[in-house]
Amino acid sequence: METDDSLLRRYSERRSRQGRLFVVSGPSGVGKDTVLAEFHKLLPDVLVCVTVTTRSPRPGESQGIPYTFVSVAEFNARVRAELFLEYARVNGNMYGTPREWVEEQRAAGHDVVLKIDVQGGINVRKQMRDAVMIFLAPPSVAELERRLRERLTETEDQIIVRLLDARSELQMMSSYDYVVVNDTVHGAAELLRAIVLAERARTADEDEEDAVASRRQSR
Ligand code: 5GP
Repeated sequence: METDDSLLRRYSERRSRQGRLFVVSGPSGVGKDTVLAEFHKLLPDVLVCVTVTTRSPRPGESQGIPYTFVSVAEFNARVRAELFLEYARVNGNMYGTPREWVEEQRAAGHDVVLKIDVQGGINVRKQMRDAVMIFLAPPSVAELERRLRERLTETEDQIIVRLLDARSELQMMSSYDYVVVNDTVHGAAELLRAIVLAERARTADEDEEDAVASRRQSR
């Protein structure tokens, strides 16, 4: 039988071997950026992935903040080169998650957060079965509508489309491991932090870890 010390050593080695992947999704306007910014202050060692988009930068945004902004031609070239872990059309623009960055950070032992839409989240889970799925939900649909209107970045038509999309995204909540209701930014960020800390203490599924490691080696 394995000694107690060797068992403890094995667990602590496994914990530091590969970073965890957290997917945070939620409807447009729910406050993902604000909550994640607050979460980052609470737990700065978790890296938030900068994803790639074809949409134009909004006022206050620039290259790398919060996206890598590329042309449609460049995005399509990256799709062909299979550089994305997943990609999707969201609100008429393309968004993609850089595969290599995610894999490199995890291999270096860093925990990573992907802030992506529900369809993207579900695609990531299919490829990375150990991804921890967190759904950020509004307290109510009426409150989501109020927040969307308040930020003044969408036209009336766009608000209506986003509310319809939100309703179908809410239906996917049960595919996620956790639901965090964004009642207050600080409360939601604290809950996210608690989830990450709990996941760090979770006993690992060795079969799944071995499968992930061998997939990576065979690529
Ligand atoms: P926005 O352009 O308003 O910042 O984001 C629009 C939506 O795209 C958000 O729901 C955001 O989470 C999602 N998104 C951002 N990056 C990605 C990505 O790489 N993949 C997918 N599937 N969705 C993304």
